[in-house]
Parts: sequence; C-alpha cells; structure tokens
Amino acid sequence: MASIAHLAQELRARKTTAAELARTALTAARSRADLNAFVTLDEQAALDAAARADAALAAGNAAALAGIPFAHKDIFCTNGIRTTCASRMLGNFVPPFDATVVERLAATHAVCIGKANMDEFAMGSSNENSFYGAVRNPWDETRVPGGSSGGSAAAVAAGIVAFATGTDTGGSVRQPAAFCGITGLKPTYGRVSRLGMIAYASSLDCAGVLARTAVDCAQVLAAMAGHDARDATSVERAVDDYVGAVSTTLQGLKIGVVREYFGAGVDEGVGAAVHAALREFERLGAKLVDICLPHAPLAIPAYYVIAPAEASSNLARYDGVRYGHRCADPQSLEDLYTRSRGEGFGAEVKRRILVGTYALSAGYYDAYYLRAQRARRVIADDFAAAFEAVDLIAGPTAPSVAFRLGEKTSDPLAMYAADVNTVAVNLAGLPAISVPAGLSEGLPVGLQLIAPAFAEARLLGAAHQFQCATDWHARQPRA
Ligand code: GLN
Repeated sequence: MASIAHLAQELRARKTTAAELARTALTAARSRADLNAFVTLDEQAALDAAARADAALAAGNAAALAGIPFAHKDIFCTNGIRTTCASRMLGNFVPPFDATVVERLAATHAVCIGKANMDEFAMGSSNENSFYGAVRNPWDETRVPGGSSGGSAAAVAAGIVAFATGTDTGGSVRQPAAFCGITGLKPTYGRVSRLGMIAYASSLDCAGVLARTAVDCAQVLAAMAGHDARDATSVERAVDDYVGAVSTTLQGLKIGVVREYFGAGVDEGVGAAVHAALREFERLGAKLVDICLPHAPLAIPAYYVIAPAEASSNLARYDGVRYGHRCADPQSLEDLYTRSRGEGFGAEVKRRILVGTYALSAGYYDAYYLRAQRARRVIADDFAAAFEAVDLIAGPTAPSVAFRLGEKTSDPLAMYAADVNTVAVNLAGLPAISVPAGLSEGLPVGLQLIAPAFAEARLLGAAHQFQCATDWHARQPRA
C-alpha cells in the first residue's frame, strides 16, 4: 500500500475508490496471516466506512484521510468491536464507546480495517507477550517486529495499511517503527487524548502514529491531536499546522548528538548508520553539537519502577466482577479474584503487577517509588538543560536491529535494557520520532529525534527534510 499522500491523490483523481482500497487492504491482511499482525479484522465495518468515505469524496468535501485504510492498535476502545489489549482478560470485551482517537479518525472518514496485535496491555518490546501469539517482522520472519505496537508496525511495513495507530509508554511506537523500517511518532504527553485508550502507566501513556513517512504522520497527528474535556491530562493548547510545517529548512538547525546514546551496547552497524544519517542532516544545513545527558543511565531503573507501579494500580480493576475474564465456579470472593486474575493475565503482566505492588508497598515506597520519581525529575532537567543549546536531540532509536524471536524471552532484564534510548523521553513527557536511517545486516535502523514539549512541528519538519533527501523510508521488505 502506498503512502497516505499518494493514495489521497489517487482517490481525488478517481483512479481508485475507498471501497477498492478497503478490499485490497483486507485481502492483503488475509494473505499475510503469517505475520499475525491482526487480532480482529472487521470486514463489514471497513466496507461500511469505505462507502461513507466514497460519498464524502464524491461530495468534494472530504478530509485528507478520507478513504485511507488503516489499523487501530487493539488498545483503543472501538464501539461494538472487540478490544482485547492482546490479553485473555479482555478476550470478550466489546466496548460500548469509541476512544477519542477512534472517534476523531472516524470523523475524517479514514477506513479502519481491524485491530492490530500488540504485547499484552502494551507491556513488552517484542510483541511476544500477546495472548494471540507473536507477530513476525516482515523483513525477516524469524525476527520480532518490536513492541508493544508490533502488529501496527508489521501491518504498515508489509503494505497492508497506509498507517496505524499505536501507543508509546516507553518506546512502543518508536522502537517497532525502527525495527520495521517505518516512521513512528510519539507526541508530547497530553497532546492527544487518552480517553478510551486502555491504561498501562497513565503518567507515561501517549497515543502515536506509525506510517511510511513524516508527512503521513503529520497528517494523522493533525486529525488525532487536540484538547478533550473528557481527559483531564489532555492539554488545552492550539494544535499547530503539522502538515504545513514540513516545508521548512534544516539550515541552521542545531541537533544535539547524545554521547550516552552511542555507548557500549549499541551495535556497530546501528551506530554507523545513525552517524551516516546525521552527516546527511549536516549536509542539508543542520549543525551537529555533541551533548551529554548525564542522568541517562537512571532512565531504565526509574521507568521499570514507575511504569509497573502505575500498572499495578491500573490493572487492579480487572477483578472478574464488572468486566473481563471470570473464572468458572468461584467458591468465594477471594477465589473469584485470584483465579480470574491468575487465568486472565499472562506472565509478563503478572511480573509487572508484582514489581509495581512491591514498589508501592509500605516500607518500600520511599526506597523505590519515591527515588524513581526523583530520578524522573533529574532526567527531565537534563533534557531541559540540553534544549537551552540545541533545537533537537538525536541518537539511535534502539541499540540493535530487530532481534530473533525467542532471543530475549527468558531474560526479562535484557529485554528491558534494550529500551534504553526510548524510555527517558516518556519520563520527560517529550515528543519524539523514529525515522528509517539505514540498514544493518540487511535490516532497518531507526534514528530517533527528540524535541521540546509541543514542538512536534519542528520534529516532523526535520524528519521530512531528511526523507526528501534520502530513500530509506521507501525501502520495503520483499513480500
Ligand atoms: N517496552 C516498554 C515496556 O515494556 C515500553 C512499552 C510501551 O511503550 N508500551 O514497558
């Protein structure tokens, strides 16, 4: 499937219709069942939405996304369509309402073909924690697509849909985008409503976009962003013209290159590709400045206390009483709780709940949770100090290319450690984008750009200028 920009043109030139694009996407999704990118496909809903899109297009007042096939990560509540969060716990959950993101994209007449697979409750970096099975990377099916938005990334990279929604609590949009050779945008915390997005760690969760290009991400963000009175953390602030902002220049733009992000643990091929991409930015007029973020090493320990702590609280609601999995023949209330939760949650989710409950328990709260919050503050201060001197901050999105299925499943700490370059951004609430920057061992490498809060336009502009001069984002896996 081509980019949004291209498809929008074809639709307006009457070279195709929304109905035809929807059918093509559904067929592609079925023929690539090997990827396991979807938990649910909804053919009828897609064809109905496509008919409405064709009507809007014919009337000549269609939004830019009208008729464009896409997928929602299965963490966004969809009215009348099962929303599982890739958990057995929510295997039969059919929400009675749409998430704000779902509502806003539906209003553009973009056409959702189904719900994308993910790590259970968005906990993971490989999509191997899904109750519905692992997703495979379209570049090499023996490898992971990244996570937790792995189904979203695989569906875009395989050309099934033009874009997909994702969520990013600690890297879940950017890292799968990097592993699958596509562009992934995580907006500023509060820029996009979290209403109807099933909560993992509420102070970190952000809705984001996975697409082929930065312009496409700009187009989707324009539709998703904006204040929502029903989400108290959504920010009341005008939405910038993201699409218009991509026509910019890199001349004089100061990019801080983070020394800590190229340290031990970063694969040689990844480091080399990212440095080469940064030289391209320099050629286009940007100025590279070496910077350091001295508290970067605190990001993983702080994140892996704060995120589980919030998760343990958020996931307490799944008790088998109101909704979610309920065990058979409970003998007592305690039996109902323990067996429903024991059966409904997978191993990684249980691990996070245990870690989080421990960190919040009396006697340990100060030692773990409070210290993690202090670390969060100094990490955010590091970014603020760096942005006094530079406009953007750059480094590799992930320390390696996509790893092999099963490679890290027996070692949770190794899996966590690989989130080293992404989690700090969430702790500081900043926007960031991952753009395809090269290949290493024949697999995609992502470059991460980070901006000050609410400077999504600057981020998208820089990424777009880079994509005008390079073709890494146009490379596709062999089908
Ligand atoms: N990999 C990180 C985790 O497992 C981030 C996940 C996310 O951003 N949802 O928590």
